[in-house]
Amino acid sequence: MKADIGVIGLAVMGQNLILNMNDHGFKVVAHNRTTSKVDEFLEGGAKGTNIVGAYSLEELVEKLEKPRKVMLMVRAGDVVDQFIDALTPLLEEGDIIIDGGNSNYPDTTRRVNALAEKGLVYIGAGVSGGEEGARFGPSIMPGGDPRGWEAVKPIFQAISAKTDGGEPCCDWVGKEGAGHFVKMVHNGIEYGDMQLISEAYHFMKEGLGMTHDEMQATLAEWNKTELNSYLIEISRDILGYRDEDGDIVLEKILDTAGQKGTGKWTGINALDFGIPLTLITESVFARALSARKEEREQAAELFGHKVEAVEGDREQWLEALRQALLAAKIISYAQGFMLIREASEQYDWELNYGNVALLWRGGCIIRSAFLGNIRDAFEKDPELKFLGSDSYFKAILDDCSASWRKVVAKSFEIGLPMPGMSSALTFLNGYTTARLPANMLQAQRDYFGAHTYERTDKPRGEFFHTNWTGKG
Ligand code: NAP
Repeated sequence: MKADIGVIGLAVMGQNLILNMNDHGFKVVAHNRTTSKVDEFLEGGAKGTNIVGAYSLEELVEKLEKPRKVMLMVRAGDVVDQFIDALTPLLEEGDIIIDGGNSNYPDTTRRVNALAEKGLVYIGAGVSGGEEGARFGPSIMPGGDPRGWEAVKPIFQAISAKTDGGEPCCDWVGKEGAGHFVKMVHNGIEYGDMQLISEAYHFMKEGLGMTHDEMQATLAEWNKTELNSYLIEISRDILGYRDEDGDIVLEKILDTAGQKGTGKWTGINALDFGIPLTLITESVFARALSARKEEREQAAELFGHKVEAVEGDREQWLEALRQALLAAKIISYAQGFMLIREASEQYDWELNYGNVALLWRGGCIIRSAFLGNIRDAFEKDPELKFLGSDSYFKAILDDCSASWRKVVAKSFEIGLPMPGMSSALTFLNGYTTARLPANMLQAQRDYFGAHTYERTDKPRGEFFHTNWTGKG
């Protein structure tokens, strides 16, 4: 019997996806550049399963049912192109290559078009959920050549996470690089969520002087509210995790954050598209700032900077902080969906925004109860421009706004950095201000560069210039 699908790449993601496919009754053939890993896998995690190995691409192709489905779970970048080049002459018209790695979406668009010219079908599928997701149910965001969807759909929807209502967290996203674009924004939102939780931890620890047990109990309570999410859950557990010597591991971890690039790509795309994606971009910058550890230590000494304690009722501050976190999170998702909408319109992807929220509802790192409400909002109004305008989210923003301002103002007062929560508040202040001071910007531009301006007392589209100096 031939195999249903071949998977290339036996690192953490590939191995776990294969085991997941096997659990769901699919026959998988596994290959890896370093072929000793095929043996290790077959004799290790895959022992006693229906999984078979292939020691060359020829053998892999030979063992597959037609149309062949070959999934790449390898390092993103040139490696993907190398495998595509090597596979192309071995495949036949209608065969399907799927890239399940974190590829940059313009690469996926290029590959979809290049392979279509050769009669092959290419799918770029974002996969989220890390090792555990891959093993027991990831969120999968497939896009690319739609001709391939019917063939891979039964496998992908079977192995994906399911919502509480049993819906698979995997559906067709759109053509070209749409799947990888949505995965990229997912990762950007992940940066934002992580940053906001870190800021709340910082405020609790330095501002309110709370112990780890107290902070852990607080997150456990928050997890019973609208903030219920995987990231709050793991942060709660992290706060209580002790080393062998009894000390909290978190406090032994160097405060320099790494990054692999998807958050940066999200920020770059936002700048390219002209979308004010401030929170996610600030979150990328926050990691960059954290990486300058030695410089920060020197500057801390030079400026004698210290975070002051927050005075007042702790319980009230904690509720205000919870509200600030929730409101900022709404803005983060609102900005993320603004970026997705812009890309969809510019590339003509016709994305279904409610569907995107559903894909993230389970299996992935940003999974949360909140995403169900986002899906509802886009179902009510598929053209919703700003998530915060939906009645459910607007009511929360209205309720939380005073506390949010109080927390951000206090953070400035006590010298505690809060880039995520404060940039989100600044965004909302700007977005809900009918008249901004951009008239001054336009006047300055016209003064030094004759860039012209539109007038409030004339129709839009008519441009004026003033001779500001009265000269020449
Ligand atoms: P990875 O560490 O990103 O990549 C390892 C795999 O790539 C191995 O199979 C390795 O083969 C192969 N590889 C690397 N360089 C190669 C080269 N020059 N030529 C041929 N093969 C090469 O693996 P991963 O963490 O499982 O991730 C796989 C993909 O999923 C990546 O795109 C990653 O960004 C994405 N992803 C990862 C996670 C996660 O939590 N890890 C989550 C979501 C998405 P050898 O064994 O021969 O070196």
